[in-house]
Amino acid sequence: MSDLENLFDSHTHHFDAKNRAIVQITKSSLENLPVYFSFGVHPQESLRDLSEIEETFRKLREMNGFLAIGEIGLDNRYDSFQKQEELYVFQLKIAAKFPKPVILHCVNSWDRCRFLHEKHAPETILVYHGFNKASITQQVLDYTKSVISIGESVLTNHKLQSCIKEIPTDRLLLETDTGNGKLIDTYWMVAEIKKLSLHALIEQLDQNAKRIFNYE
Ligand SMILES: [Zn+2]
Repeated sequence: MSDLENLFDSHTHHFDAKNRAIVQITKSSLENLPVYFSFGVHPQESLRDLSEIEETFRKLREMNGFLAIGEIGLDNRYDSFQKQEELYVFQLKIAAKFPKPVILHCVNSWDRCRFLHEKHAPETILVYHGFNKASITQQVLDYTKSVISIGESVLTNHKLQSCIKEIPTDRLLLETDTGNGKLIDTYWMVAEIKKLSLHALIEQLDQNAKRIFNYE
């Protein structure tokens, strides 16, 4: 298989992903796990029973393909912010204990996400997924535990295109998330902005993936 057919995808909700992807699973998919996956309770989800969540993590812990905890985080478009924080902190502590990197869902809440991360899981890598807020790029990069993961919005978001130049390639990942576009188009776009060959970009992001998610 050539590397073009096996791009690393740091976060997707598509179970039939053709690339080498970290698939976001749900509690109902535990019987049929993808090769690589992440699990975590999203701030918007209604599952709130912490002991049930912990039990699921405990079951998944020994499985080889379990690469990350997420997507977890804070989203200020939804109310019950206090409950969101409780859930986020609970899962940060699990990430610190396992230890596993965190795939972060963060909407208009970077300062708080960072503060709680620093307090409860400071050694854990934080992968800021679906990043599209160019104006906070530098703030996120200043936090040395963070890595930025970008999806297909880079194809159309001009501000995001220009902020890609500021992101060091060793702190960058690319993802599909819920999008229906082709991941290769995102790779092409980023390679062009970075003035790298497609092959060099694939190689670098592969190294990042292995370093961050610690898999063979
Ligand atoms: Zn997602």
